Amino acid sequence: ALDVTLSNSKNSFTEALLFTHRGLSGPSSLQLSNYWNSGESFKIDFFPSQDLATYLKDKKKAQPKVLLRTLLNEFTAKSIIQELQQLIWPEQSETAIGNISDAQLDHIAEQLHGFAVKPSGTEGYRTAEVTLGGIDTTEVSSKTMESKKQKGLFFVGEVLDVTGHLGGYNFQWAWSSAYAAAQYV
Ligand SMILES: Cc1cc2nc3c(=O)[nH]c(=O)nc-3n(C[C@H](O)[C@H](O)[C@H](O)COP(=O)(O)OP(=O)(O)OC[C@H]3O[C@@H](n4cnc5c(N)ncnc54)[C@H](O)[C@@H]3O)c2cc1C
Repeated sequence: ALDVTLSNSKNSFTEALLFTHRGLSGPSSLQLSNYWNSGESFKIDFFPSQDLATYLKDKKKAQPKVLLRTLLNEFTAKSIIQELQQLIWPEQSETAIGNISDAQLDHIAEQLHGFAVKPSGTEGYRTAEVTLGGIDTTEVSSKTMESKKQKGLFFVGEVLDVTGHLGGYNFQWAWSSAYAAAQYV
């Protein structure tokens, strides 16, 4: 797990990201998935608390013989840096930082702060934590939870198109909407 920032045009979350055998998981991806639709991409900032361009150029002056991966290993897991090296700077992997141009360092820093990912899909309902059940909230009274189309029919909880951020908001919604309905029935 890494602390990263995941963002798209709609929102941004700085929380843990988990690499599983099947793909991305963890709080940051669960949160951003509320604002993501199939086919869209998002960005991963692997170093949200660093200004990497400045850091790398300062290191270029101070330690010109060091490799990029040696510097970056200080901040995060070596296995991740190894993968990022293959993806972002394979041609400079064995080049001392002093021999990498400032423009290349800026480009590498930009990639590490905004690595674009386009998921090929999700695991669907099988592993979904919340599903947006499909009942449109405009068809239900927000005071009593009764259907506007069918008197005496009530919908509460996850069966409605309501979802919340991580942190218990889905339980809260299930219980609160049930309480509201129970007051009326
Ligand atoms: C792995 C996981 C982790 C989660 N973690 C959190 C969390 O940390 N915080 C949080 O807020 N939310 C969390 N959620 C979401 C939360 O659990 C749900 O949003 C919430 O439980 C929904 O409550 P509900 O009563 O609307 O529906 P449900 O809890 O799904 O209840 C519906 C019930 O109806 C029953 N049922 C279905 N069909 C029929 C039928 N035909 N006849 C009779 N009974 C039927 C089902 O068996 C089920 O018991 C998590 C969900 C998952 C899957």
